[in-house]
Amino acid sequence: MRKPLISGNWKMHHNHFEAIQTIQRLAYALSSSDYESVDVSVHAPFTDLRSLQTVIEVDQIPINLGAQHSHWEEKGAFTGEVSPEMLAKLNVSFVIVGHSERRHIFGESDEDVNKKVRAVIAKEMTPILCVGETSEERESGRTLEIVERQLKEGLKEVKASEVASMVIAYEPVWAIGTGKNATPEDAQEVCKGIRIKVADLYKTASDDVRIQYGGSVKGVNAPDLMKQADIDGLLVGGASLDPDEFSRIIKYRLLD
Ligand code: PEP
Repeated sequence: MRKPLISGNWKMHHNHFEAIQTIQRLAYALSSSDYESVDVSVHAPFTDLRSLQTVIEVDQIPINLGAQHSHWEEKGAFTGEVSPEMLAKLNVSFVIVGHSERRHIFGESDEDVNKKVRAVIAKEMTPILCVGETSEERESGRTLEIVERQLKEGLKEVKASEVASMVIAYEPVWAIGTGKNATPEDAQEVCKGIRIKVADLYKTASDDVRIQYGGSVKGVNAPDLMKQADIDGLLVGGASLDPDEFSRIIKYRLLD
């Protein structure tokens, strides 16, 4: 079945010295049985990626290197941006696309998100497409409508076989970095809705696509979230900065 994927989004934290220390402490806390049960990715700032790539390769750490975003063009006059080509050269495996902070702070549209999803796939990396509603949208009963729109627009012109191997992260905006998380049942309901929508759009991809939940995940709530039928992993922000807490989340199956 679907192997869980637990991803740490470091956001704008950890310079490259801190990043090296953090990944080494994380690797020390994890064992081969953890990697057999769970895929792990770490999404570091761009300035850390080359250092992390080296440590991962030299120390043979089975953690996947991840990026937090990417431009869609291969090269050009896009000051401050980084291309999928550049990330692929660093052996980046997973790229977060459409994180709510990118959508809300930096104004990324569904159309931008779709271009990025396709560009990441074209360089043989896996996009983690983030979707999620704001608190106002939830209160007005529009959660599924919003998430379905983000999915439909984000996946435009992506083939079923590509969708099957990608990752979708359900991250309610009101739960990110707030300490408020969706109940396992609420998260499951939306993740199930996402799988149904994928089945609607692509008959063959819905059994294989991995769906993560993200929003104030910690060691204490990870086991109950991971028990839900349609939650195949977790996207973890704040708690992934601390290798002890992040390893507790990755070992969710032992905490129950
Ligand atoms: C995130 O950054 O994707 C996230 C879910 O953050 P946090 O775990 O801190 O809520």
